[in-house]
Amino acid sequence: MTETQTEVWTPRTHLGRMVMEGKITSLEEIFNQGYKIQEYKIIDSIIPNMQQEVLNISLVQKQTDAGEKSRFKSLVIVGNYDGYIGLGTGKAQQVRIAIQKGIIDAKLNVTPVRRGCGSWECGCGENHSIPFKVQGKCGSVTIELRPSPRGLGVVAGDVAKTIIKFTGIKDCWTKSFGSTRTIPSFAFATYNALKNTYRIVTPKDWVG
Ligand SMILES: [Zn+2]
Repeated sequence: MTETQTEVWTPRTHLGRMVMEGKITSLEEIFNQGYKIQEYKIIDSIIPNMQQEVLNISLVQKQTDAGEKSRFKSLVIVGNYDGYIGLGTGKAQQVRIAIQKGIIDAKLNVTPVRRGCGSWECGCGENHSIPFKVQGKCGSVTIELRPSPRGLGVVAGDVAKTIIKFTGIKDCWTKSFGSTRTIPSFAFATYNALKNTYRIVTPKDWVG
């Protein structure tokens, strides 16, 4: 539990009030109705067991009148291992605060991820992989995710592997191009690819 999670929540948005009153109880409803999540407590309320991991901490320098000022920047993944992930960043002078801000930002960026078995070698029809090939980009990095047979595992660089596992996907091939050593770009390219599992289907396919 972070400190922010123990505070009493007073919703600021219409969506927040509906979640608090129990009129909306799932992320499916939120995304189906096209709401934008502006309060991270909505995620805490609907997915109380959301897991998180810090992917990167970097030091960022800024020139001010008083000289150089350095702050930490976190890169954080959240997910429920069941079709929802978020990726976010946070900056602060203290690492701990930078991480907390990163967690909040990641929760505000939660997206559904479509799983399935699009592997012709497997064809089991279960949710262990992805249903079709997707691509994602960020900066100079492009990553392609492809369905793979059961038992293969997630074949990817460390950062992409961690992100993919947070969705609950167990098997997947990846191919990446560009400077994948730039962790934030590699991470956001992977997140964008996973997000694209929903972008290229019709709304009637959304549920189920
Ligand atoms: Zn399969």
